[in-house]
Amino acid sequence: MVIIRMAILKDDLSRKNSMTTVTVDGGADAVGARWDLEADVVIIGSGAAGLPAAVKAADGGASVIVVETNYDIGGHAIVSGGNTPLGGGTSAQKKYGIEDSPELVFRDLTDWSVVQPNGWPDYRYNDRAVMRAFADHCALTYEFLLENGVKFKDIPPDNQGGHNLGNSAPRENHLAWTKGAGLESPNARGGTSMIRPLEASARAKGVRFLLNYKMASLIREPSSGQEAGRVIGIAARYTPRTMPGQPAPLKGFRSDGNIETTQSSVHIRARKAVILATGGSTGNLNFRRMFDPRLTGALQVAGEPYTFQDGSGELAAMAIGASLWGLANQILENGDNIRTQRALATKYNYMTWELESPIFPLVRATGLGVKDWQDLILVNQVGKRFYDETKGDYPHGNVHNEVSPYTPHDYRNSERIKFNPTKYNFFNAAVAMNEYSEPPDYSAGPVWAIFDAGAVEREQWKVTPPYVDPDGYFFSAKTLPELAAAIKNPYQAKPVDGAALQATVARYNSFVDSGADLDFGKPQPRHKIQTPPFCAAWATPLVHDSRAGLRINAKCQVMDMNGEVIPGLYCAGESAGGFNQHGLGRCTTQGYIAGKSAAAEKPDR
Ligand SMILES: Cc1cc2nc3c(=O)[nH]c(=O)nc-3n(C[C@H](O)[C@H](O)[C@H](O)COP(=O)(O)OP(=O)(O)OC[C@H]3O[C@@H](n4cnc5c(N)ncnc54)[C@H](O)[C@@H]3O)c2cc1C
Repeated sequence: MVIIRMAILKDDLSRKNSMTTVTVDGGADAVGARWDLEADVVIIGSGAAGLPAAVKAADGGASVIVVETNYDIGGHAIVSGGNTPLGGGTSAQKKYGIEDSPELVFRDLTDWSVVQPNGWPDYRYNDRAVMRAFADHCALTYEFLLENGVKFKDIPPDNQGGHNLGNSAPRENHLAWTKGAGLESPNARGGTSMIRPLEASARAKGVRFLLNYKMASLIREPSSGQEAGRVIGIAARYTPRTMPGQPAPLKGFRSDGNIETTQSSVHIRARKAVILATGGSTGNLNFRRMFDPRLTGALQVAGEPYTFQDGSGELAAMAIGASLWGLANQILENGDNIRTQRALATKYNYMTWELESPIFPLVRATGLGVKDWQDLILVNQVGKRFYDETKGDYPHGNVHNEVSPYTPHDYRNSERIKFNPTKYNFFNAAVAMNEYSEPPDYSAGPVWAIFDAGAVEREQWKVTPPYVDPDGYFFSAKTLPELAAAIKNPYQAKPVDGAALQATVARYNSFVDSGADLDFGKPQPRHKIQTPPFCAAWATPLVHDSRAGLRINAKCQVMDMNGEVIPGLYCAGESAGGFNQHGLGRCTTQGYIAGKSAAAEKPDR
């Protein structure tokens, strides 16, 4: 008799996971008889970590299945900006005479003395073994991407768009992105130029894709004697996506190599290893609040609704004993973990979604970009201002030359950063409790941008669908009390206080007259809010990155609560912990490491 411990995860973000024990009679063969599919390496997720892992595992001679819950590949990576931090002596750095080395990358990303302008340390809580592995594989991964068709702009690496890159050398590369060019994108973004070539390379190397299936659990053999139980496969559930008004499930751009089935659930055997590349946990309300209880429901997540960082990889691994790691990195004070909206009046407000996007029926509105923050005020769910609106942009972690002069690992580096918590405090103020914050979670609720017809004209906004979403994210009315009463949104605890909103606007208008914002110091408030119709537009900040996740070692093997490797289980990308860096560099490199290590495993039998 073989006993398989399965962690059954339910889909809904708010529900609990449970552990159950499935007993299979008849020995190991009976376990094998249950498998619907099998491969040497089974990779969960097809984003910035999953695709490099797939290509690298195939290069290592492994057969590979990539399981992706979405209708198409790419994850957050395909809608990302495409700024890619990879250094350590890349061919691009060499071409432009930039000196860098794995040693320098390692030294930079473990430098405890470097802090952000609010005093929070960029690299202090990085796991040293994970950093060493990254440093040693960083340049290799850059060349690997080139070999697999990824094209970067032929310009010197810089620090533009970079976050937590290290102080010693410019390491940010920029993907060469051309709209069209056969690179089908869900939102015409730079990251597509990394993801589509990697997808093409993976398919050409025989990687098979199972789209529309979500891993629900990991299957681990029981331990025997001194030998820890091995992860031997996964269970996954059919998750087709349909859009309002379009009953047929959405399909991916490419279909060669796709596994075609619509079974409601499948069991997939991994002869060598399972790699979790599920993209993190910030979309899981209860998970993210473990790190920072203030990150309550009103905050949305960048990259949604294309894909979701729902913590399903972390939860499945935790259910079979895995440990989390580097948890300090996930707090709100850490640079760009949380960001301001880039578009008002739409729920999915980090970037502007194209009308042609296949998921636009879910996005519902492009939103309104702001040219001048003098055109509006921001209020909390009560209707009260809380900050200087012109200072809301998000900060980022240390990049090349930010500490100058820089002496590695010298405590005086922190004194060379000008202490300036202003940007960070925008978020502290935005998630602070207010009069409407109630049990059980005392949520701050939404932030609303309030403006008038004059602002609409100055900004040249179109305040009709599909530019704004009148179903909960944009409202207008002839008077301010009517506007307050009109605001209805699932995250708004109770109606905005009309009298409070009116008083807020009256006081702000008086600041325009006097030229001084006596409450929050906005420099010379310029425009009164006085011409109807008055408008309220969703302007709530969002969570962006997962910087804490599963504990891994230098090979990206997942570790348990005793510090032991869980055989057959790997993790890469935002679902892995111990690494405080934003984005594509860390994820592609860990995908490379995990794919290489997994392919080198001995098959389980
Ligand atoms: C709008 C935006 C812009 C960005 N711009 C940049 C940038 O310019 N530079 C930069 O460096 N970084 C950028 N990033 C961050 C970068 O895209 C991410 O850090 C990176 O994509 C994370 O890689 P990943 O593989 O861990 O996750 P993802 O790329 O998100 O991939 C995870 C995949 O796993 C799938 N998945 C999750 N759970 C399951 C499950 N249970 N079963 C099956 N599949 C599952 C998801 O659907 C998803 O496709 C940006 C992110 C966003 C959202």
